[in-house]
Amino acid sequence: MQARVGGAGALLAAAVAVVSISASLPAVSPATAASGDYKLATQSLPDGRTVVARWNPCQTITYRVNAALTGSTTSQRNAAIRDVQGAFSRVSAATGVTFRYVGTTTQIPLNSSVNRWHTRQNSAEIVVAWVGQTRSSTRTNLLGRSGSGYAAGTGGYAFKYWKSGSDPWRGASGRGFVVLDAAQNGKFRAGFGSGPTRGALLLHEIGHSLGLLHVGATSQLMYPTVLSRSTTGFASGDLAGLRRLGSSAGCVTTPGWVWSDLS
Ligand SMILES: [Zn+2]
Repeated sequence: MQARVGGAGALLAAAVAVVSISASLPAVSPATAASGDYKLATQSLPDGRTVVARWNPCQTITYRVNAALTGSTTSQRNAAIRDVQGAFSRVSAATGVTFRYVGTTTQIPLNSSVNRWHTRQNSAEIVVAWVGQTRSSTRTNLLGRSGSGYAAGTGGYAFKYWKSGSDPWRGASGRGFVVLDAAQNGKFRAGFGSGPTRGALLLHEIGHSLGLLHVGATSQLMYPTVLSRSTTGFASGDLAGLRRLGSSAGCVTTPGWVWSDLS
């Protein structure tokens, strides 16, 4: 986690924390897991308070997909896009949040110290991209490691906190990414259902982008590894965590200047 203060003065100030969480799938990874059935990401505010890292569940969250590396044919790539749409549909049902697919993109989310991914990501709140780590043009430095190789996927978010006048510090997530290692596509069966599926991988990583962390319970989809188990989607703990992040927990009123470059 990194935090950088980029405030504009004493009255208006915003800062960004970028969090990315890797999944090692389907290989076993050393888990930094919670003991409960769900765990929510938190952020520290400058006044010392710790808050749950939430998006504003009352806004429409747009997403784009870079599926160029999911297959050589249009139908293969469209099937991958449909899986992403199916995953967001399931997340919407669990959170009450409206997600809207706004098209494809060629973007590879890519972090850098001078101009981070979220400042360049102006076409959608969340970008889901399959990446190829052997070529510079398709590589990302956001994909986590797993042992000597790469994790199958990583999801993360950017969280801004701000202060307006004498109000207390507040914060909200406003950009997210999911990157998936295309070299490991063969480990995941297309669609949803039992076992290690592309759908389960997408649900797991989108869960990270919305603020779910890993848990130690193998029954949950947020366990760090997608298992060959009978779970076909979010389990009870995953769903409880998503409810805590979603509309039933209330809106996060966010001034327009905080995440101002998307309508
Ligand atoms: Zn994970």
